[in-house]
Amino acid sequence: MNSVFSGSATTVFETMSRLAKANDAVNLGQGFPDDPGPEEVRRAAAESVLSGWNQYPPMLGLPELRRAIAAHYGRMQGLELDWEKEVLVTSGATEALAGALLALLEPGDEVVLFQPMYDAYLPLVLRAGGVPRFVNLRQPGWRMNEEDLKRAFGPKTKAVLFNDPLNPAGSAFPREDLELLGRYILKYKAVAICDEVWEHSVFEGPAHVPLMALPGLRDRCVKIGSAGKIFSLTGWKVGLVCAAPELMKALSKAHQYLTFSTPPNLQAAVACGLALGDGYYRGLKDSLRASHDRLAKGLEGLGYKVLPSQATYFLSVDLGPGADDAAFCERLVREARVAAIPVSAFYAVDHQRSIVRFCFAKKEATLAEALRRLAAWK
Ligand code: PMP
Ligand code: GLN
Repeated sequence: MNSVFSGSATTVFETMSRLAKANDAVNLGQGFPDDPGPEEVRRAAAESVLSGWNQYPPMLGLPELRRAIAAHYGRMQGLELDWEKEVLVTSGATEALAGALLALLEPGDEVVLFQPMYDAYLPLVLRAGGVPRFVNLRQPGWRMNEEDLKRAFGPKTKAVLFNDPLNPAGSAFPREDLELLGRYILKYKAVAICDEVWEHSVFEGPAHVPLMALPGLRDRCVKIGSAGKIFSLTGWKVGLVCAAPELMKALSKAHQYLTFSTPPNLQAAVACGLALGDGYYRGLKDSLRASHDRLAKGLEGLGYKVLPSQATYFLSVDLGPGADDAAFCERLVREARVAAIPVSAFYAVDHQRSIVRFCFAKKEATLAEALRRLAAWK
């Protein structure tokens, strides 16, 4: 068996969701909303299953969806994309990440990774033959530091895997950090694999700016989005990939042998969703902000130190020096019957062990019940 996967544990998301079920816990661990998602988008999928095309769609994605992706990012983020040469649909952002690493890396190429990092990154980098170079984001605010970038980048750097907004922190990088990273990408002629699945979830502060929009970076970025996140339908694995034609040629070769295509019905529905008016996107942010504030206030009331969060479905609490986040989450799910995620699972080295992530993208009643259980446990 290949040692990368045989040496990996089951992901923390699956583990915590299983524990949540076994303990009849309120699941604020794995990130999924309990909002059912926009009805018109779900209806479009149902109609497409019943009366649409159920055979293989074109390998790059349905033309109507690829056009809709280009138009959407033009409208929302000011990007000019050629839908025929610069847009690809994958089976989730996860396939896009794996495909980009497989398409770009030669064995021994170095990849800069920022900790905390989404748990799929490291195994995918290693399996693609990459050599990780870690950069730890710093508090306050999970920021980049130039000295750290100086140490991580070098002549062997092929790519940087960059998640903005950042899961698990719920933070978004300020423009200053994007510019700093951009300078290193240009200096070392690297490619940025930009995991922007949380782009529409920024509920506080400036709107999301894709790294690709910065001067000089247009042709050095693979921008990855996820319809599952945009429409609160996380089980829908539809990834939205944008990159300059030269990069896209390589990405599409990896995609054609990984999955070849993505269910056409979901693609048709996502095309319909991306065309929803600005009101939908405002509503999403407003509802995330309200849920964030509800949980943050409740946790603060119980004495937890809540770290600032401005995007994603997540907020985190700092348990303080000497804490053991994994042990805390074990006890929380079994004793308080509330599931959360230990942030140490997002580190491969220099583990940060005092921070616990909670998913706030839940109905008021779900959050109230979680807070009631936490109060009783305290
Ligand atoms: N990247 C990050 C940072 C994520 O949080 C997630 C899922 N929550 C993904 C990638 C995977 O997205 P998808 O479900 O579209 O594969
Ligand atoms: N991205 C989700 C989270 O951070 C989980 C995705 C998964 O379960 N693989 O909670």
